[in-house]
Amino acid sequence: MPENSVNNFAGIEVALSAMHGALISENGEVLSRRESLYEPENLIGAIVELTKSLREAGEIKSVGLAIPGLVNRETDRVLISTGLPFTAQEHIHSELMQATGLRFELENDANSAAYGEYKAGAGRDARDIFYIGIGDSIGGALILDGKLWTGASGCAGEVGHITIDTEGSECVCGNTGCLETTASGPNIVRRARERLNRDSTSSLSSLAMQENFTATDLALAATNGDDFSIMMLERTGRSIGIAVASIINLLSIEKIIVGGPIMEAGELILKPIIEEAGKRSFQQCFEATRIVAAELGVDGVAIGAALLAKDAGK
Ligand SMILES: [Zn+2]
Repeated sequence: MPENSVNNFAGIEVALSAMHGALISENGEVLSRRESLYEPENLIGAIVELTKSLREAGEIKSVGLAIPGLVNRETDRVLISTGLPFTAQEHIHSELMQATGLRFELENDANSAAYGEYKAGAGRDARDIFYIGIGDSIGGALILDGKLWTGASGCAGEVGHITIDTEGSECVCGNTGCLETTASGPNIVRRARERLNRDSTSSLSSLAMQENFTATDLALAATNGDDFSIMMLERTGRSIGIAVASIINLLSIEKIIVGGPIMEAGELILKPIIEEAGKRSFQQCFEATRIVAAELGVDGVAIGAALLAKDAGK
């Protein structure tokens, strides 16, 4: 390996059944990317394989591993992870280091995405940001003066579990009417399906023809001018805007960055978020906050995890 290539870092995002890896230069430029599926019982083996495959594209200094769960960065332990086999993997960190000979940094996925946007994406010109990630669940993270603010318990920034509808559906967290029960990917699909079933005019929507569609398909249909999908995104945006208004009033933060696959629909989702936040927040706070879409796209979490690994090694 040429010596100058050892300033590369890897980031791996572990999702429910798939993982996404990126090899980045020290400036955050993506040099190579890999994806793979995994079986829960072979989680560690799959991470090791993906790392090996990224290593073939260039030598790696250290690896950031982003997971959908709560991580203690001091002890490198996974504290809580719903739907993943991580809680059974008490020694995931030491096993990965042993199997690869590389240093691993564990972090929550929303925190990783926020860090990536802060360093190399939509937040690079800001001092303080709040990040909202809309995916299978809704995560959030707060960065103040360059540092992740994780709070007394480590779970600060859980914007997906802000109540937006006291009469709303039950949430996985035990509360009812959380933002996540309306605006996460699976819940956008659920709401769209319910409406397609009860409203005959919506059968004109291209989604009515698709047996299994995702929130990403809905965003794409909206971008292609599908009225039903545009309406669903607008309603989703308004729900997110209610939570954004609370963040603005609480923090009066410089920049709020919204990421995740549905943000591919651009203004169709961003505009209702901004309008609703404007209606519901204190005007001076609202005017001092910029609400923008994330810039790093599908690589965002992996890039952020790699940059966290890089900065942890300083
Ligand atoms: Zn909740």
